[in-house]
Amino acid sequence: MPAVYIKNKRSIASILKIALIPVINGFAKYAWRSIPRSAYLGASPIRLNLAITRKCNANCVFCAYQFARKEDTVHMSDAIFKLALQRMRHARIRQVMMSPNIGEPLMAPMFMDKLSQLRAIGVDQIEVTTNGLLLHRTDARKFLLNGPDKINLSFAGFDQAMYERDYRVRHFERTRDSILKLLRENRLLGNKREINIRLRGDLPVDVLLAAPEMEEVMQLAHSVEVMTEVDDWLGLITKDILPEGYILQKEAPELTLRPCMLLWDLTVHPDGDIHLCACRNVYGDPRLHIGNIKEMDLVEAHGKIGDILDEWESGNVPTTCKTCSMYCDPANGLIGRRREIRQDAALKS
Ligand code: SF4
Ligand code: SF4
Repeated sequence: MPAVYIKNKRSIASILKIALIPVINGFAKYAWRSIPRSAYLGASPIRLNLAITRKCNANCVFCAYQFARKEDTVHMSDAIFKLALQRMRHARIRQVMMSPNIGEPLMAPMFMDKLSQLRAIGVDQIEVTTNGLLLHRTDARKFLLNGPDKINLSFAGFDQAMYERDYRVRHFERTRDSILKLLRENRLLGNKREINIRLRGDLPVDVLLAAPEMEEVMQLAHSVEVMTEVDDWLGLITKDILPEGYILQKEAPELTLRPCMLLWDLTVHPDGDIHLCACRNVYGDPRLHIGNIKEMDLVEAHGKIGDILDEWESGNVPTTCKTCSMYCDPANGLIGRRREIRQDAALKS
């Protein structure tokens, strides 16, 4: 979804590299067919998107969760989670993102215990996106010491009426306090975790940023990003169901014959099904389905990604992707991905 970064910490070296990126991306687009798959897929999975739950305790007006089928809004069972751990250990996966598509990860039973189990098998980079509604249940210091490495907080903004209108839940004050407490505690711990604030409210950007709490948030958060347009979630979200202040995304990126880079990583759903795309593939498009962890390990599943990319490159784009406005040109992600693959290989050697 279109968004604007208000704050994003970057090193000088990375800023210098950014200047070269358009040139390299342009070349990658031109030469895409000659770039070997191994350059962006690597030899085995480097990251797994793990949907430990598809339940959510909010009901955001801009999210497809409100249309989710009851049978899809479930927690991952202990048996599937245990099997996923075995598969991850075998594939030596070090990076896990725990909130693909829809769902509030902190609602998953024994969330912190699940994190410990992931760490125990060698996962050392855990990312979650949370609405923060349950943060009050865990001591902020403990959450930071033992919790995820990267915490993306999805929050409407510091305005109670807007929060209730957009997220359609109560507990604004409690959630606000939890977010501020987490940021302050993280500073006391020397910024142990990366905390990114994602403002998703319907008020204009300047109004969202003018809230009194934002001065402190700007100082303490690793990054602050504000959504400026709402994606239509494959046509599910329409202007008539959105509060007036939201702007529906006007233009979608043009699809090319370069398969979307969201297809580079596997996603395991609560039933063990392995799909591609942790973003908009909420209904399990059969064309993006690879198998199930009950019958296939993750290295084998990773080896099948190329078949789906082949189909796309031959012009047979998956149905879900045809109507998706979140397409990410892989040429634009090639440099970062190469770096990730190299770092992953070095740490595993
Ligand atoms: S908190 Fe996230 S998953 Fe839940 S309804 Fe809002 S955007 Fe969707
Ligand atoms: S185009 Fe959309 S649905 Fe397809 S892989 Fe990319 S983000 Fe997912």
